[in-house]
Amino acid sequence: MKVLIAGAGIGGLTTALMLHRRGIRATIYEQSPQVREVGVGINTLPHAIRELAEIGLLPALDAVAPRTRELYYYNRYGQEVWREPRGIDAGHPVPQFSIHRGRLQKVLYDAVIERLGPDAIRCGLGLAGFIEDEGGITAHFVDSVLGGPGHTARGDVLVCSDGIHSVGRRTFYPNEGPPKWNGVVMWRGATEFTPWRDGRTMAIGGGMGAKFVLYPIAHAEGGKQLMNWVVNIKMADGETSPPPKESWSRPAQRSLVIPYAKRFKIPDYDVNALVAATAQAFEYPMCDRDPLPRWTFGRVTLLGDAAHPMYPVGSNGASQAILDARALADALQKAEHPRQALHAYEADRRPKTAEIVRLNRKGGPERVIDEAEKRAPAGFESIDEVMTKAERAAIVGGYAGKAGFAAASQRASYAAAPVTAATTPVAAK
Ligand SMILES: Cc1cc2nc3c(=O)[nH]c(=O)nc-3n(C[C@H](O)[C@H](O)[C@H](O)COP(=O)(O)OP(=O)(O)OC[C@H]3O[C@@H](n4cnc5c(N)ncnc54)[C@H](O)[C@@H]3O)c2cc1C
Repeated sequence: MKVLIAGAGIGGLTTALMLHRRGIRATIYEQSPQVREVGVGINTLPHAIRELAEIGLLPALDAVAPRTRELYYYNRYGQEVWREPRGIDAGHPVPQFSIHRGRLQKVLYDAVIERLGPDAIRCGLGLAGFIEDEGGITAHFVDSVLGGPGHTARGDVLVCSDGIHSVGRRTFYPNEGPPKWNGVVMWRGATEFTPWRDGRTMAIGGGMGAKFVLYPIAHAEGGKQLMNWVVNIKMADGETSPPPKESWSRPAQRSLVIPYAKRFKIPDYDVNALVAATAQAFEYPMCDRDPLPRWTFGRVTLLGDAAHPMYPVGSNGASQAILDARALADALQKAEHPRQALHAYEADRRPKTAEIVRLNRKGGPERVIDEAEKRAPAGFESIDEVMTKAERAAIVGGYAGKAGFAAASQRASYAAAPVTAATTPVAAK
């Protein structure tokens, strides 16, 4: 069996490692001239980390990223709406990691080179098209550096893990058009700054239409830590306005972001100073695509963002790509024919990921602060008077359950979480 993989993102690299573990050969074709550490922060949830731990990557992840311990949800005044333990602290056998996307990609990349050999990743080759016959699949790649034809490869299966603008997806759905935008612009950045609390805690503050996300993505050193922030602002009606360009590397004017950042308070932290200290911010529209009726066509399938791009709420994009990789590798190992394997993979993963795409459109777990703001737009004395603990637990715990990352003990904690009336008003009213 020989598997061709288009795209050396989180999904493609993990797929190659999972296949290697099962004795299946794979080559990755990546359109960028090299795999560079691009992006800022992402979170990887315990159900995905369990898969990476099984292929021996826990020490490498521990070396570069903090184990997330706790997550706080605040309204825009810094009043606590909900908090919960995460990862091992929530009872999972493995951690959640808050991590620089590029460093996660590098951990996976280094493992692929070490285990599969230096020829396993062919950079500068972008998937252009493919033709299937009874005996296999022939994929054509363009030379994305020089232009023109670059390479033709033959395999048993082609996995398109080529991201939100997937060529594989466009081939099967030529009339789908651009990603769907909900009108929210995300400004993102990361810089060495003062750690927040224990250096392993994340916060999501704000409410409907405007949110601030804060978490560390490296270990603290010398009193500083690489702090990741995101400001999400609803800027337009996504139904009627075309989205800004969906490039993860698009620079943003910091002066544009600073007035919006001033809207938010996170207790014991100067979020405005953090944003102002960030040399380079990035802009990305919050977009996704509709769930598909089908991912697999003969010997070709879609994986990760190519199959199910979702809004980045609930920390699920990279995690679901990792879970796809595991399911696909298992299916290819077990099935008698590659086509049968791809169908089994799709039957397992497509319904689960479609559900998360839909839940994320409704706000995912962050709906807990949307709802708090709707009911108490000027803040509150006690969150319990605004929303009962059971209501808050139902929103946050319901999402975790459906997205598949609620530990048994965590399910219990949704019923008895330590959120009390003792909130600390920061600047309410
Ligand atoms: C440069 C970049 C930066 C990102 N930064 C963030 C971030 O800061 N925060 C966040 O939450 N998410 C970020 N993401 C998205 C996040 O990585 C994904 O949502 C998630 O990890 C799922 O990964 P994936 O492998 O399916 O897709 P991706 O991570 O998007 O990887 C797709 C890969 O395929 C390659 N590719 C594209 N077209 C072709 C082609 N025709 N042929 C061959 N290769 C191709 C791309 O160069 C890329 O390496 C970023 C994605 C990219 C590409």
